[in-house]
Amino acid sequence: MISTRYDRTRDEIADLLADEPAYRLDQIWEGLYRDCAEPEDWTTLPKTLRERLAADLPRALTEVTRSLSDDGQTVKYLWELVDGHRIETVLMLYPDRATVCVSSQAGCAMACSFCATGQAGFSRHLGVGEIVEQVALARREALALDRRVSNIVFMGMGEPLANTTAVFEACRRINGDLGISARSITVSTVGIIPGIRALAEFELPVNLAVSLHSAADSSRDPIVPINRRYPLDDLVEVCGEYLRERRRRVSFEWALIDGVNDSDTDAEQLARLCRRLRPSAHVNLIPLNPTPGYATVGSSPARVRAFRQRLEELGVNATVRQNRGTEIAAACGQLAASGGDGAQPVALTSPGGTGGVSSSRPA
Ligand code: SAH
Repeated sequence: MISTRYDRTRDEIADLLADEPAYRLDQIWEGLYRDCAEPEDWTTLPKTLRERLAADLPRALTEVTRSLSDDGQTVKYLWELVDGHRIETVLMLYPDRATVCVSSQAGCAMACSFCATGQAGFSRHLGVGEIVEQVALARREALALDRRVSNIVFMGMGEPLANTTAVFEACRRINGDLGISARSITVSTVGIIPGIRALAEFELPVNLAVSLHSAADSSRDPIVPINRRYPLDDLVEVCGEYLRERRRRVSFEWALIDGVNDSDTDAEQLARLCRRLRPSAHVNLIPLNPTPGYATVGSSPARVRAFRQRLEELGVNATVRQNRGTEIAAACGQLAASGGDGAQPVALTSPGGTGGVSSSRPA
């Protein structure tokens, strides 16, 4: 894989500047990490140097489409990588924060039945530069709207804990170079136990979210096939270890699927499992976004409310995450799966961003 703009370390960029005064490095670093601008726009530098840097620091991502929804508050990008694979990023603007949902792989090998990326299969891991550039470009859009990116969620395409080397290094850059607090970064996993153990050892205190979707092995196996390898009992055990070690809250993601995992009994099983973690895990409920390869629909709003209420009665805090970008096919992998046609591309005059599947909002 070629080394792209945000793969380069500060030392590697310094090596490109052999004959230049020392302050150039700071100027370039600001251009990359403070302004997230293109080399052509680094006007503190002479034109010839800008041109050389544009060639020496090639972009990893080329925009295929950009789609807007929620009154322009959700922007979803479909990017093409240098080798032709396609990935997605979403920027979600809220009154009090701005969240970027990033992809960690092109495709995904986990094959969760209801997930568009899982239905499409695995292509390859993303490199550090490909992950960091997603954040930088979303941040550029946010800056143009006078907004600051405050939160990062690894809830785009791919399984981040199957690509820990690049994901952890990207977290270091997002934290150290882009200045986003580690506590505002969330890694979401289908439940890869060795990956959760690695995250517990990772020096940055990022948040852990586990995509549970079912609290019984017999019903989790068919929708989240990796459950056969890492069954629930072991998964909850390792979440407990993570919690004790890091003193960070663990949250469970639960896509509510009509008639599959949305009964009162499902809520009771989930509550029992949450209470094994002390303090109880937090639950994020997401009404399922429909995908072409999965016939069942999301739960009705009334069932979502009832499920949440049952959890609360049993002492478990739950947030209903509002679907963002449903009309632009913003569920994980949907845009890439449709070749970009699943959304209405909209030309933005000011930069936008993309957003993950959804983002937390009190119900
Ligand atoms: N592989 C990681 C992160 C990517 S998906 C993981 O599984 O956590 C981010 C979240 O979106 C996961 O909770 C995933 O289960 C959920 N998701 C995927 N497809 C969805 C859909 N169609 N509707 C609602 N949530 C979905």
